[in-house]
Amino acid sequence: MTARVLVVDDILANVKLLEARLSAEYFDVITAMSGPEALSICERAQCDIVLLDVMMPEMDGFEVCRRLKANPATHHIPIIMVTALDQPSDRIRGLEVGADDFLTKPVNDLALITRVRSLVRLKMMQDELRMRAVTSREIGMRDPLAEAVAETGLNGRILIVDDRASSHERIVQALSAQHQVEVEPRAQEALFKAAEGNFDMIMVSLGLTDFDPLRLCSQIRSIDRTRGLPILVIAEPEDEARLLRGLDIGVNDYLLRPIDRNEMAARVRTQVRKKRYTERLRDNVQQSMEMAITDGLTGLHNRRYMESHLGTLVEQASMRGKPLSVLILDIDYFKAVNDTWGHDAGDEVLREFAQRLRKSVRGIDLACRLGGEEFVVVMPDTDAGVASIVAERIRARVAGEAFAIHKGARAIDVTVSIGMAQRQAGDTEADELVKRADQALYRAKRDGRNRVVLDAA
Ligand code: GH3
Ligand code: MG
Ligand code: MG
Repeated sequence: MTARVLVVDDILANVKLLEARLSAEYFDVITAMSGPEALSICERAQCDIVLLDVMMPEMDGFEVCRRLKANPATHHIPIIMVTALDQPSDRIRGLEVGADDFLTKPVNDLALITRVRSLVRLKMMQDELRMRAVTSREIGMRDPLAEAVAETGLNGRILIVDDRASSHERIVQALSAQHQVEVEPRAQEALFKAAEGNFDMIMVSLGLTDFDPLRLCSQIRSIDRTRGLPILVIAEPEDEARLLRGLDIGVNDYLLRPIDRNEMAARVRTQVRKKRYTERLRDNVQQSMEMAITDGLTGLHNRRYMESHLGTLVEQASMRGKPLSVLILDIDYFKAVNDTWGHDAGDEVLREFAQRLRKSVRGIDLACRLGGEEFVVVMPDTDAGVASIVAERIRARVAGEAFAIHKGARAIDVTVSIGMAQRQAGDTEADELVKRADQALYRAKRDGRNRVVLDAA
């Protein structure tokens, strides 16, 4: 992860110290020694995250944070406020001006690296969504940028695994104003719940008495359904060694007892946001993959998908010596539908036709719109005898019931011609098969339409 961290502090020794520690973890570090300098670096989009000292002359850290969060050009940059240990009120003010997390001076190495990593990951996901937003809008998908900006990280579903009532009661009390919280004191039950429930984050106490909490964390990481679930552990200050192991096996963040409520609120929000961004990215990828292979008008697969998939199906059938049949369907006199009733009515017919087609084939059959009023159905494990029954059924369903147009105000008769071909022993090429079905379709048209013809071969 090569992220650029901006360290802001008016004392040179502090800057140098943080710079050295972050550089040792291969972060790229830039520095600023005043608020105005930090603002101008951020505006030029030159950093991924800011470590911001609170106490600075001229413009203090709160003011810098407030300005960064108020500016649309910089408001997505995560900010970690570096506060004095004896000033808890600083954290509240920090939250009020929009800080994403806190570190206390003197800064502990583990805390520093964990927090920076956690927020850098979050930022990278947001950046990814931001980049996709442009393309998505161009092709008419949901706008992930708008969603990313609107993501508050609030109202998350949180599972707390802690067997000490005095401890989890306090956590529940602190979190339930902003989230939906559930407690499960037994580790193995918690794992089941996490796998079944739709949680945004799991919080695990390192103080569990009956079960090794790190084992629970590693189980969460190894099960498919919980792999992406953020884990935040609650540790005692003397737990540092176990904490390090936890971070190694995929724990995302931690809180030390006694828990500071503001710190907890900030860290939980960060994890909830991250979980939601991850989901959004995944949905977004899936959606664009689906759009690339789907015909927009009918929702059937498109030509591109058919071409890439038919080859595989023909190959499989020939390797296994199984039959395979292809239908090509072309609506009769469709141009006349457009000419008489309008292009929109033509579209209504196409959609309804696709609907009837879908209902007439099995789930493993591949139904596609090739373009215009031409469709293809590929039927694996199906010989010509069965295929002609299916084809005849489709033909009858089209001819048998009029098609509603003008939003149901009128209905017109539609018929379809269907050409059919079965894979022959020597066929290894999909093209051959499609060509033969096409020739059969031509004969169906020539012989009077509204009929099914099997190719002669
Ligand atoms: P045939 O019985 O010989 O198949 O005659 P046809 O009129 O159906 O065939 P032709 O290929 O001459 O015309 C097809 C028409 O389909 C022409 C075109 O305007 C129309 N068409 C193609 N794509 C669409 C579409 O997406 N929507 C609508 N409404 N019409 C389309
Ligand atoms: Mg036609
Ligand atoms: Mg045509």
